Parts: sequence; C-alpha cells; structure tokens
Amino acid sequence: MNKIHRLPPPACLDNQIQISKNKKIQFYENLWDNNGKIQPRWNTTCKKGGKVSKIRQTLLEMSNEACVYCGIKIDNTDMDVDHFLPSSQFPYLAYCWDNLLPSCKRCNQNSKSSFFPKSLTGTKIVENILSEKFQYDLIYDKAHILKFIAKNDRLIEPTFDNPEEHLEFNPEFYFYESKTKIGDFTIRQFFSQKEVAEDWEGLSKFIKSLIVNSQDEQAALNMVKSYIQLQGKEYVCLKFYQYWLKEKQEGRIDRA
Ligand SMILES: [Zn+2]
Repeated sequence: MNKIHRLPPPACLDNQIQISKNKKIQFYENLWDNNGKIQPRWNTTCKKGGKVSKIRQTLLEMSNEACVYCGIKIDNTDMDVDHFLPSSQFPYLAYCWDNLLPSCKRCNQNSKSSFFPKSLTGTKIVENILSEKFQYDLIYDKAHILKFIAKNDRLIEPTFDNPEEHLEFNPEFYFYESKTKIGDFTIRQFFSQKEVAEDWEGLSKFIKSLIVNSQDEQAALNMVKSYIQLQGKEYVCLKFYQYWLKEKQEGRIDRA
C-alpha cells in the first residue's frame, strides 16, 4: 500500500474558497431525496461517453490511476469514488473532498463495504461539526477524528497515514503483517481473502521469472515497470522485485 499525497480539492468542492455559506447550506440541505436516501452523487458519478467530472479526474491523478487500497490500475469507467467514512453513516461527508478516495470496485464494494470506525457510532461528531459550524468553515476536522477519536478501530487512510508505519509486506510468503491495530483492521478488510493471496503468489512467480531470465537487473526492472504501467500494484511488485533480486544476487535461485 503506497502513501498518497492528497491534491488540493477541485474548485467545485473547495469549501474554503468557492462555496459561499448559503450555497454550502443548500448543498447539504439537498442531500436527501423524498425517501430519505442520499441524492445520486451528480458530481461523482461516471457519465459514459461524457465529460469526466473534475472530482474523478483529480482523484485519478492523485493516485496515479490506481486503487489506493489494493493498487490495481483503474480508469474513469471502472473506478469508484470511495467515501472513507461511508456516506450512509456520515451523510455530511458525501461531498467532502477530504473524505473521498479513488478505489477499484472490488475494494470499495466487496472488501471495504460499509466499514466504519465503531468509535464513531452514535457520536454524531462529524454531523455536529458540519451542521452547526458552517459559519466557521470548520468542515471536517479529519486529523482530530482519525487521530484522537477513531484512532484504533479504523482502516488506514493512505492520504492521511503512512501505510508503512502500520503494515509490513512479506514478499517471501506474499502477505502483509500488521504493526498496529489499524494495520490489523486494514489487512482483515482488504488483504485476507484467498484470491488476494493467489494473485500475489502468481505475481511473485512472474517477477521471479523476469529476474531469473533477464540479462541484468535494469532490464528486469524495466519489465516490472512496464507491468506496473499496465496493471498497477506498484507497491507489491517492487517488493517482489527487491526480494527476488536479492535472492539471485546471493545465489539462492537458479535458472528455473
Ligand atoms: Zn482495490
């Protein structure tokens, strides 16, 4: 899992600059439809053949067109806009830039699903911050919420946390080990399924074969980089590359 640097919000979601107080209140008052469901997210949905929304475009740019959780390559047609704190529980964060992450459908819909920190159950803290303090422009004190309120029972947020402080990838047996509680939660939610292990096992064998059969390490690295360009998974690919290169240099693998 890579650390992601969050880009500044696109103008349409820049609460500090572009949206006046009244507009902002309107924005949130119109969140629900007549059945009490959150309105279709007009600004995050994918319009086939149409213009890619600035929000989706900025999210894709931010992660170098990869899912922030599993790292696979995504584009506008197969990406989901993940709400880190799910909008079903935190409706006021449905349009909050700091809460949006680019994700593949599997991670968003199957792995993560509607996971949210239990420590935020019933506290209404996000809603309170948002609904009562519009006038202060204190939209979402993410650092406070993730650091102090939901500090142990949440997932890694890769634009906020440094994943390497919480996870250690083991390339020999292709799995993540956790260093912290939120590392545990993240592994359980995203990386504990059988198909993930099978995928990484295949990837490990593939990168091993590139290293065994290439002339030199640069040639092998170039091939690994081409693979990443097409498929993503940069973090684990580079871990496998370093692992197998060391195995080769220290004479522990033969031509297979
Ligand atoms: Zn994913």
